[in-house]
Formats: sequence, structure tokens, C-alpha cells
Amino acid sequence: MSQSISYTYSDSNGVAAAPRRKVAIVGAGLVGSLAALNFAQMGNEVDLYEYREDIRKAELVQGRSINLALSQRGRKALAAVGLEEKVLATAIPMRGRMLHNVRGRTSIVLYDPCTKQCLYSVGRKQLNELLLNACDAFPNISCHFEHKLATANIAEGQMQFRRPNEPQLISASADLIVGCDGAFSTLRQQLVRTPGFNYSQEYISTGYLELCIPAKDGEFQMPPNYLHIWPRDSFMMIALPNQDKSFTVTLSMPFELFAELKTHQQLLDFFRQHYVDALPLIGEQQLIKDFFKTRPQHLLSVKCKPYHFADKALILGDAAHAMVPYYGQGMNAGMEDLTLLSSILSQQLPLDVALAQFTESRWRDAYAICDLAMYNYVEMRDLTKRWSFRCRKWLDTTLFRLFPRRWVPLYNSVSFSSMPYSQCIANRQWQDKLLGRLMTFTLLASLIAGGAIYARRLR
Ligand SMILES: Cc1cc2nc3c(=O)[nH]c(=O)nc-3n(C[C@H](O)[C@H](O)[C@H](O)COP(=O)(O)OP(=O)(O)OC[C@H]3O[C@@H](n4cnc5c(N)ncnc54)[C@H](O)[C@@H]3O)c2cc1C
Repeated sequence: MSQSISYTYSDSNGVAAAPRRKVAIVGAGLVGSLAALNFAQMGNEVDLYEYREDIRKAELVQGRSINLALSQRGRKALAAVGLEEKVLATAIPMRGRMLHNVRGRTSIVLYDPCTKQCLYSVGRKQLNELLLNACDAFPNISCHFEHKLATANIAEGQMQFRRPNEPQLISASADLIVGCDGAFSTLRQQLVRTPGFNYSQEYISTGYLELCIPAKDGEFQMPPNYLHIWPRDSFMMIALPNQDKSFTVTLSMPFELFAELKTHQQLLDFFRQHYVDALPLIGEQQLIKDFFKTRPQHLLSVKCKPYHFADKALILGDAAHAMVPYYGQGMNAGMEDLTLLSSILSQQLPLDVALAQFTESRWRDAYAICDLAMYNYVEMRDLTKRWSFRCRKWLDTTLFRLFPRRWVPLYNSVSFSSMPYSQCIANRQWQDKLLGRLMTFTLLASLIAGGAIYARRLR
């Protein structure tokens, strides 16, 4: 494989522009393929290495979430490479949550009744294919499928890849290695060995399994423009619409509960008790087939820092900050990494300084969204059912309508703005404090007024 090269190029006015580097991106998933486009746009020579075969030639992989909720941060990053419109053209807007109670009755909580913003359901495979097709249009991107990173010497910029049915490892080199290789990142494993690298991971006791509500007579079986939720306290089910008019259903429950459903009868009884309206839509035989076909998958949250090593290596996306999927922000946050990174790299600082700046500007927000994702699991499976949640939602919406710049509700700030995630939390804490004070004030004022009326009557 070719040797490492690093050189500068000039723009049309002869002004020295950013140095062109040989950049290796490991992982051609959603973040890796977008990273390739960003680095290529900056004029770098990009090698994109992917463990699996080319997804455009592969059959749909069951088990990984088939569709995802795309929101503002992802849209902005896609817009930067000219792909936002193309993605939205086939995406399905979801305007709010449609809640299904145990009796099968539904109610709607819109995400944003004021400015009518919505989430978009996008197919993981279609989005990945679109990004890879865009990569093909760049002469300075070379894609290498079925290349699994086995080891890396990050200080030297050396990598070794394993290929199927090839006993010998393949060597390659780069000026900068960018790990976009997901939650179990091999590149991160190399970083873990470097002094000063902090790392923690947390598995939650909940697993998830994917089911399907197929199209019927070529139509959706439920209203398509919602994210459907069946909240059931300690477990829940959600469904997102697909282009082919089916819904991908994700059942999330503690592993012990999954283990209790051993027979077909137990599974059907469980669904009759908790998901009575969903059962006929999924179909009993299909449910049995899909449920027992795969094991529930584990969910992991990862926090680490720094994201870089000198000017040699960097991790992005799930490799840097995997999170539980309950805020629908994993992909969005990974794509937002690239918005931030591109803006820092455009300042043409020395690369080690730029990467250090990236870590410093990003880690608090990455930690914040990992925490928010954990919190939202409680909100989705439990709080959405409560009247206090709906009251707060109503209050937030009213205040947002009155003061759209000053009162941005938490969900809106996370999903429909680019406010740094840590600021979204600070914002919510400020709002909670203010509402707490207002409630105390209202309570005291009512007590005083009531006391005064009572005293007058006594006179
Ligand atoms: C059930 C579920 C639902 C989700 N829903 C949403 C949602 O609605 N919205 C949202 O924003 N996010 C969602 N997410 C999160 C989202 O899927 C991830 O955040 C996103 O896929 C991260 O992209 P990535 O490219 O960083 O990692 P990945 O998608 O994991 O891609 C990593 C790539 O690297 C490759 N790879 C791995 N190891 C190696 C190696 N050693 N060498 C070479 N290549 C390698 C893999 O084959 C893969 O192609 C969800 C996640 C789950 C599990």
C-alpha cells in the first residue's frame, strides 16, 4: 500500500491553503462515510476502510436498527455536504409521539406545536448507501471494503487490516487515522493504552429486539407521521415508519423479562396483556417468528476523553460517545462532531492544536447527551403517561409560544436546535428553578389571600 504523504496546496490566488494529508477513516457507517466526504472536501487524500462488505451489495442486516430519527444536528451536517435535501426527499416526517395505552387507545403529543418542527424517519441502509454513493463521486476517496482494522500503531500512523480468507494482515499508513468504527471501536482500544486517556462504559439492564408491522394492502397500518410509543413503566415498545409502508418496532425491556418469555403462549399472552392493539398488526405467527429468531441486543453508553492523540489519531461518532438510543441522537451527535470538526479545521491551526480544540469543545456536550439519552428512557417508558408530564409539556409549549427566544423546551433544544447539549441541560435546570420559584410564590400568594379572606369573614 502507498506510503504516507503530506503536502500543502495553493488556492487559485496562490495563497497557501490547509495542508493536504493522507487520512485513513476506519468504519464506513453513517459517521465514517460522512467524515470521508468532509475530509475529501477539504482536499485530503482519503482512504475509507470498512470491515463489512459494501452495504450497497449486501442484504438488509437484521438486528441493527433499520430506521433512525434524523433531526436538526444531522440535517445540518448533511447540508454541509449538499445531501440534506436528497435525504429528506425519501424520509418520513414524524410530527409527534402517538401514545398507545394498554387498552389500545391512542393520544398525540406533538413535538413542536408552535413552529411545527418534526423528526424524520430515515432508513439506515438507504442513508448509508447515499453517503457512499457521494463518496464515489470524489476522486480523492478510495473505499476499501472487507478491511477490518486489527491493530494500529497510532504514533507511527501504521495500521494492519484483516481481510476475509486471507491469512496475512495487510499494512497501510496515514498521516491521520480517524476511528469511526462504532461503539466497540478498535481504534479507541489503542487510545485507551495512551496515558491520560479517560474511559468508562456502562451497559444498561435493558435489551432491545426488533419486530415489524408490515404494510397491509400496500398501506400503513397506523398513522405514519408519528413516532408510536407504547409506554409500560419499566418497559416499552416504539415504532418508526418505513418507506415501504411498514413500521420497524423496537421492543425494549429488562433482560429478565425477555428471559421469562420462553414459549409461544407466554409471548402471545404477554402481548395480549400489554400490546393488545399492536398484536393483530404484527400478526401472531410473525411475532413468534421474529421474537424467537434473534436474542435481545445489549445497549451501551461510552464516555471517554480526549478524542485525539497528538496530530495522529481521532475518534468520532459512537467510537467516541456511544449512547443508549432513547433520545434518537446517536447518529445526529456523531454527524454534529463533523460540523464542529470542519469549522475548527477551517481555521487552519496546526493539526495537533485543532484536534485538541475539538476534544475540548466537544467532550462536555458528548457526556451531556449520553446522560440525556439515559434520562429520556425513563421519560419515554414512564413519564409520557403521567399527567404531570403533559402539564409540563403544555406549560413549556405555552411559554415557548410567548417567548420563543427565551423559553426553549428541553426536547426542542436537543432535537430542533444546535444548542450545545450541555447548554440544553443548563437551560432546563434554569427553567425548572424558575418554575419551582413561581409555584412557591403562587402557593404562598394563595395562602396569604386565603388567610386574608378568612380573617375578614371572622371580623
Ligand atoms: C436500536 C437503535 C436505535 C437507534 N436510533 C437512533 C435514532 O433514531 N437516531 C439517531 O440519531 N441515532 C440512533 N441510534 C444510534 C445510531 O445507530 C448510532 O449512533 C450511529 O449508527 C453511529 O454511527 P457510527 O458511524 O459512529 O457507528 P456505526 O453505525 O456503528 O458504524 C461503524 C462502522 O464501522 C465498521 N467497523 C467496526 N469495526 C471495524 C473495524 N475494526 N475495522 C473496520 N471497520 C469497522 C462497522 O462495520 C460499521 O460499518 C440508534 C441505535 C440503536 C442501537
